[in-house]
Amino acid sequence: MLTDRYERRFRYLRLSITESCNFKCDYCLPDGPDCSSRRHELTLAEIKRLVRAFAQAGTEKVRITGGEPALRRDLTEIIAACKNTPGIKEVAITTNGYRLERDIEAWRDAGLDAVNVSVDSFNPGTFQLITGDSRLPSILRGIDKAIALGLKRVKINAVLLRGYNFAEYNTFLDYVKFHPVSLRFIELMLTGDNRDYYKHHHVGGDVIQRKLLQEGWESTRKGITAGPALEYQHPDYAGKMGLIMPYSKDFCNDCNRLRISSRGQLFMCLFASQHQDLRHLLQDDAPEPVIQFLQDTLQGKEASHHLHEEFTGSTRHLAMIGG
Ligand code: SAM
Repeated sequence: MLTDRYERRFRYLRLSITESCNFKCDYCLPDGPDCSSRRHELTLAEIKRLVRAFAQAGTEKVRITGGEPALRRDLTEIIAACKNTPGIKEVAITTNGYRLERDIEAWRDAGLDAVNVSVDSFNPGTFQLITGDSRLPSILRGIDKAIALGLKRVKINAVLLRGYNFAEYNTFLDYVKFHPVSLRFIELMLTGDNRDYYKHHHVGGDVIQRKLLQEGWESTRKGITAGPALEYQHPDYAGKMGLIMPYSKDFCNDCNRLRISSRGQLFMCLFASQHQDLRHLLQDDAPEPVIQFLQDTLQGKEASHHLHEEFTGSTRHLAMIGG
């Protein structure tokens, strides 16, 4: 089991398979992606070796992310490769949903267990203002399809944004009333590229947390491979509400995940100042050197990120390594 100096155990791998994205979210990639990054992406063979090594070191869950993972033509094969790795119990994906309606069935058949879809607003105009994309209706149909296909978990991520969706709280609740999804508000995080935007649009999740508790929502227990969200349930709602509050006290105490960038670099934190290249260890089938590298490097993982001090490490935007 991968364990750090603070006795945190790492069973959850977030694997970015591309830095590229076809959406231009204001807070992430407002000017679009750097297309040259695509030629540096890990190959399917390297991904198989990587996931095998992680699984042998105790990883049980892989989340495929990006950039936009559905931009990769071999995404279905990547899902199958992760799922067929002995030890991996759950494969999830985080996507903007633009291929969901078309491809979710193939992904499910390849072994996908769970999907997180980013929907920052249910209002098509606001959605387009934030993301630059007009496909909200298809994305919502894709979510319905994922639910109908019986995926283990369907989650929706919405970044809380003052001036855009913060006032849409009731619309989000109405959706959750009738859809068995977990809808999570993510606090906008400061990154190297979004300082001005952050100053204007960041709003704390505690306001929403207070509202939920006042309205009778109750907090639920987390599983050992669960992500960082606090989840709430309510007897009158089909779905759950969640909050991801990276600025809250003790957020990092139960960190259970490691990240690999699409270039094969280990990020021990979303906001680490340094990353470690391990691609050279993925050139042959032996997993032991990768496991040794992970265990050794992990001893340098810090107790917490330094976002409160406005220190964003080397992370210019989250498309580099996935949220
Ligand atoms: N393209 C996929 C998607 O749209 O979900 C995966 C990558 S995206 C970087 C992953 C998640 O990070 C999305 O939910 C996105 O809204 C969120 N995100 C990006 N930048 C963020 C920021 N600065 N603060 C909080 N969340 C952010």
